[in-house]
Amino acid sequence: MKHTEQTACPYCEGHGYVQLLLGGSETCYGCLGTGAVQKEQAVSKN
Ligand SMILES: [Zn+2]
Repeated sequence: MKHTEQTACPYCEGHGYVQLLLGGSETCYGCLGTGAVQKEQAVSKN
C-alpha cells in the first residue's frame, strides 16, 4: 500500500470546522472543511 492515508486535522480534530470564542463556528482553515489532511501536509513545517 502507498502512503495515501489521511489523518484527522489537528486544528479541528476531524470535525471540519472550529468553534469560535465569540460563538458559532467557522470552516476550518487547516482542512477547508474536510476534517482530514494528508500526512505529508500534517507534518509540514515553516
Ligand atoms: Zn480542520
